[in-house]
Amino acid sequence: MPVRCVTMLTPAGPACTRTRTIGPVSAGESEWTAAGRREALKQVFAEAQACQRCADLAATRKTVVFGAGNANADLMFVGEAPGASEDEQGLPFVGRAGKLLDRLLEEIGLARADVFIANVLKCRPPGNRDPLPVEIENCHTYLLRQVELIQPSVICTLGNFSTKLLRGDPAGITRVHGQPQVLAVGTRTVRLYPIYHPAAALYTPRMLETLREDFARLPQVLALGAPEQPPLPQVPEVADATEVAAGTPAQADTAPTDAGTGPADDARVPAQADQPASEVGQLGLF
Ligand code: URA
Repeated sequence: MPVRCVTMLTPAGPACTRTRTIGPVSAGESEWTAAGRREALKQVFAEAQACQRCADLAATRKTVVFGAGNANADLMFVGEAPGASEDEQGLPFVGRAGKLLDRLLEEIGLARADVFIANVLKCRPPGNRDPLPVEIENCHTYLLRQVELIQPSVICTLGNFSTKLLRGDPAGITRVHGQPQVLAVGTRTVRLYPIYHPAAALYTPRMLETLREDFARLPQVLALGAPEQPPLPQVPEVADATEVAAGTPAQADTAPTDAGTGPADDARVPAQADQPASEVGQLGLF
């Protein structure tokens, strides 16, 4: 029987494990230390920085806007895609929509340091055009890995793109805003809370009013805590590193390296230590 080494991001760093565990132990409980979580996120960030899955976006972007905030946040926001300011600074929601998001957070007693903010796309679509379906698909694994690592209780989707993606349903934001629902996002079960995108509310006072009302109910949704998590899936025992080293070249590819790289994805990236400090700083992790 072929053997396979499962390389996973563990609290202690990448490791080849015998049994792969996915997701938290139980609702609201995390295996991760804050530092381990941050390091694992930085590793995914390093991968995203080298991403070439969308040729157009990779050719025109100035930065990859991975997301920023508290790696231990209970609340995660997911927007659409970086705009010009975000592309320039490498941080999400730093333009006018971001200022409104800051204000709305403040009104419910929160700050950016309390939450994690990400987008469906990590790269700016040229001219701020809508994300293409293929780009959303290409970028989806980064978002899923962010959710898997951060383990939020609540994901607040901002606008149509993130709402449709994470609900897996074409219903638009006008129909579903302000209605929390429990659903699985990758391996994590969360309370999904769709609200209008702050950029849309900037120009429509009625929409801003609704956004503010929905925002005001966010603390109640958060107070419900993490929904019950599914039991940990277990995969059959796999070989240890020495068995893998004697295996086929394809199997050996997934073995951990001394450099500490080796996420189980096909995008090979330099070790985190090879990344310039300024780029790592763009994560803005607290
Ligand atoms: N709009 C988004 O959806 N995301 C950003 O980061 C900025 C504006």
